Amino acid sequence: MITNSDAESKTAKIRYSAQREMILDEIRSRRDHPSAAEVYMAVQKVKPTISLGTVYRVLNKLAEDGEALRLPMPDGVDRYDGFAHAHQHAFCAECRRLLDVEVEIPLEELVKFADQNKFVIEGLQICMVGKCKRCVKARKGKLWRN
Ligand SMILES: [Zn+2]
Ligand SMILES: [Zn+2]
Repeated sequence: MITNSDAESKTAKIRYSAQREMILDEIRSRRDHPSAAEVYMAVQKVKPTISLGTVYRVLNKLAEDGEALRLPMPDGVDRYDGFAHAHQHAFCAECRRLLDVEVEIPLEELVKFADQNKFVIEGLQICMVGKCKRCVKARKGKLWRN
């Protein structure tokens, strides 16, 4: 017998997987590493009834499941990456752009440190902080005019 609550939880599951798919599509369609609020603004155009809380929950679940990366930023606002392969980032402290850094990181020293300190490595995120070339150029432009 299908009870009401069975049906409800089934509907909730369908709803959840539709939301999950929509959010995953959104973060995989862009390379700018949006914040949860930015993902919310985008998906909310397609699905106005979705809440910011749901977007947060789904994003964090995707990160937990290894389908996305949650990237803690120096400005305190987490960003999300739909490309979960091992890669690093560079953060522009001026315009908050987050660039992908696709280089091989030599891990020997880190692994040695972890071994010595009995630290169990579960992940590695390197984030350079600085100014992107656009911001450096804009600043030079300003200096020129002065
Ligand atoms: Zn910049
Ligand atoms: Zn990335």
